[in-house]
Amino acid sequence: MAKIGINIATGSLQQPEMIVGIDLGTTNSLVAIIHPETKMPIALKEFDGSSIVPSVVHFDAFGNVEVGAAAKPFLETDPANTIFSAKRLMGKSYKDIQTHQDFFAYKIIDDNNDSLVKVQVGDQFYSPIELSAHILTALKNRAEHILKTPVSKAVITVPAYFNDTQRQATRDAGKLAGLDVLRIINEPTAASLAYGLGLDPSEEKTIAVYDLGGGTFDISILKISGGVFEVLSTNGDTYLGGDDLDRAIIEYWMGLMKIDSLEDQKILKQQLRLAAEEAKITLSNAANFETNFAGETLTITKEIFESLITGIIDKTMGCCAKAMKDAGLKVADINTVLMVGGSTRVPLVKNTVSKYFNQAVNDTVNPDEVVALGAAVQADILAGNNQSMLLLDITPLSLGIETMGGLMDVLLPRNSKIPTQAGRQYTTQKDGQSGIQIAIYQGERDLVKDNRKLGEFTLSGIPSMPAGLPKVDVQFLINADGILQVRAKELRTGLTQSIEIKPQYGLTDQEVEQRLMDSITYAKEDIATRALVEAKTEAEQILSVTEKFMSKNMALLSKAELMQTAEAMQALQLAITMEDKNLIQGKTEALNELTRPFAERVMDQAISGALKGKGIMD
Ligand code: ADP
Ligand code: MG
Repeated sequence: MAKIGINIATGSLQQPEMIVGIDLGTTNSLVAIIHPETKMPIALKEFDGSSIVPSVVHFDAFGNVEVGAAAKPFLETDPANTIFSAKRLMGKSYKDIQTHQDFFAYKIIDDNNDSLVKVQVGDQFYSPIELSAHILTALKNRAEHILKTPVSKAVITVPAYFNDTQRQATRDAGKLAGLDVLRIINEPTAASLAYGLGLDPSEEKTIAVYDLGGGTFDISILKISGGVFEVLSTNGDTYLGGDDLDRAIIEYWMGLMKIDSLEDQKILKQQLRLAAEEAKITLSNAANFETNFAGETLTITKEIFESLITGIIDKTMGCCAKAMKDAGLKVADINTVLMVGGSTRVPLVKNTVSKYFNQAVNDTVNPDEVVALGAAVQADILAGNNQSMLLLDITPLSLGIETMGGLMDVLLPRNSKIPTQAGRQYTTQKDGQSGIQIAIYQGERDLVKDNRKLGEFTLSGIPSMPAGLPKVDVQFLINADGILQVRAKELRTGLTQSIEIKPQYGLTDQEVEQRLMDSITYAKEDIATRALVEAKTEAEQILSVTEKFMSKNMALLSKAELMQTAEAMQALQLAITMEDKNLIQGKTEALNELTRPFAERVMDQAISGALKGKGIMD
């Protein structure tokens, strides 16, 4: 269950902040957490069900930045302003990447060979750190959006061969994205953790991690002993991956269609690339693939695909052999082989690796997610080991006041750090209202009746004013001891009233959890209720204003107009009784439409009256 502790002595509420695990990949990135209840690592998914955020950043002419799936289509249509593979540039100088310059479709600055590279987009220059920070920000936002709590701490993974400069660059990118990077861990280590390896200190194992991603291949040989991971050797090819498998299909099809080049037809080229990737992915689970391309039927069988990519896969096996040699090991010394990276879904890859290592490979954990999942495992270990350091005083539930219609208006969202302060202005609903009641609640539900009441008081003695004119400022203040002070002040008069709430008894862990669970369970219902209450509140206000208006300006309206208005008011009143949000909104709109010309007429009268009476302005 969620680790929420309450210090009864001080009334402060403590909860270790959730630390996320992030796989900042060359092609794809994602964020994972340990589920607070199941204790299992899970990748955070958006509504579309996808956990993967393509590591692509697009800048438009107005300086807007898009990241992920939204940026990906621009790779072909706007390549100069679309940055992919920023990870390859991390901690690199121009000299380092010179030989691969053709790979990048965007502009890399070459003014000073030895300093770190920058990318030029329009007249702006971006460091790979800034570009990676955009991706990390998108992941942080995703996590905050899904978890509904601030996320500021992360474990980020890097390839085992990353040097200190590259690791530092990754840290800096995290910092720029507002993340405190608690640890940088190796991708193969993360993958092992996701498989539960290394968690038992008595375990001794030698592991091969075969990671074939979108554009890179890494093989790492690790030794785990006493819970410590040692990288015995790494090898790979930084320009070999799933993209090469796509390219093999593209070339095959272009040959069949007798097309030499699609360089001038960006859209077609994009379509063909997407079709090739779709073919590859389909062939991981099917014997053949067929699609339509520019009026032609394109097909490819698994057999042909495999014959096209054998050379590429053999190349990765050459790297494995080198890594084994460097580690001074024989194939029989490897206890476990882990499959990592989306491209290991290709059956021929699995089979070839399995044959080489002479054993079944481990592919049960989703190869796209396994690195992020392992980072989440590491994050959880850190949270557990360093509890004293990570414990933050926070509010475990939102704090707010009751507003019209019994709605909860949150001033301090849950997980606000203590001490803290927040305020908002309110006004009166009725003419001449002399008191305003402040009822304080704690909880996540939209209606105060479902939350816990902490106290209430009345700010009385407000001088008689029309509704909406008094300005009442309500401040919530939580001091370092967790004591909440609520103060209300009428700003025109300076009238002040306050209350101090000492949580003599806090909620138990279970109660806090129950409230959080309820807010999730009832979220949909609450949104509907809130919408209804808001519609009702608005309708009631319109009715009251209309009533006032009618009694004051009866003389200006015809009998028919008076009748129509009365009917419209009655219809709205009935809609309110029926608690039908759409009907209420419709009838409110109808009443508004009907009375708008009356209001204009009254206004005209008032103006002409003012003109006649001249002296009124002096
Ligand atoms: P990286 O670690 O380089 O960021 P990933 O591990 O996310 O990349 O791998 C991305 C690659 O995996 C892409 O080339 C994608 O086409 C490929 N891929 C994803 N799913 C499949 C599949 N079912 N079959 C074959 N390749 C796949
Ligand atoms: Mg990867």
